[in-house]
Amino acid sequence: MSKIVEGDVIQLVDRKRRRYQFRVQRGAQFSFHRGVVPHDELIGLEEGNVVTSSHGERLFVFKPTLSEFVLKMQRGAQIIYPKDIAAILMFADIFPGARVLEAGTGSAALTLALLRAVGEHGLVISYEIRKDFLEVAKRNIELFFGNIPENLILREQNIYEGFAREDKNLDRMVLDLPEPWRVVKHAKASLRNGGILVAYNPSILQIFKLSKRLEKSGGFLLTEIHEVALRGWEAGKRSIRPKHRMVAHTGFLLIARRLGDTETETGENV
Ligand code: SAH
Repeated sequence: MSKIVEGDVIQLVDRKRRRYQFRVQRGAQFSFHRGVVPHDELIGLEEGNVVTSSHGERLFVFKPTLSEFVLKMQRGAQIIYPKDIAAILMFADIFPGARVLEAGTGSAALTLALLRAVGEHGLVISYEIRKDFLEVAKRNIELFFGNIPENLILREQNIYEGFAREDKNLDRMVLDLPEPWRVVKHAKASLRNGGILVAYNPSILQIFKLSKRLEKSGGFLLTEIHEVALRGWEAGKRSIRPKHRMVAHTGFLLIARRLGDTETETGENV
């Protein structure tokens, strides 16, 4: 059982499945087109309970999943969508205890997922060049976890200029940058042998340029390139069918593995 306490981020779901997400504060009230709900009425409820607004609208009470949270949270930079984050976690093989470097932090959608996946014994190092985006990222992280986890290092730095000296022996690296090829040299020096690099980019030209640079570096084996197409369906009273709208394109994923120093890239990339 999970009771709602003050400070929790929760969501109310109406009969049309519209979701309203906010942080519970004593004395505050949630208002929408179908009336108001005092926050005090939410405190002590369990997830899955129902509250009724002043206009008689019944609303389900849940805590948001990470996926729901990132879609509603404040954005500085454009986020990586949950469908791609899910694939990144698997293709990058993020595991509990992993040392992961990511860039750029942006709004921290991916950062949140990485933190969850590495767990308290792992480490996430995240680079972001823009101070204003980092502020948004910190607010989102704090809102989701209740604090900034100690195993997160945020670096306000241009990653193209190199990594901090201690960012070595990394297990995994996830790049969401406009010019990821500019990180290849540093990635080669800082990823452990067998480590995995995943890049997310909206344009295949970026992926192509990165693949060429990885090949030239002699330190990586390009293993896979993917795009994730996810089509939602709707279950109505009379029909079950695909939704009319979908997010048709977000980005491509490139996956490469760091080779041992004695190996050389053959150029026969898959
Ligand atoms: N993955 C993030 C979104 C990142 S958008 C999320 O899911 O929320 C790309 C980010 O990279 C932007 O915030 C941008 O400011 C940052 N960026 C661009 N060039 C950079 C550089 N050279 N060094 C560090 N960050 C950079």
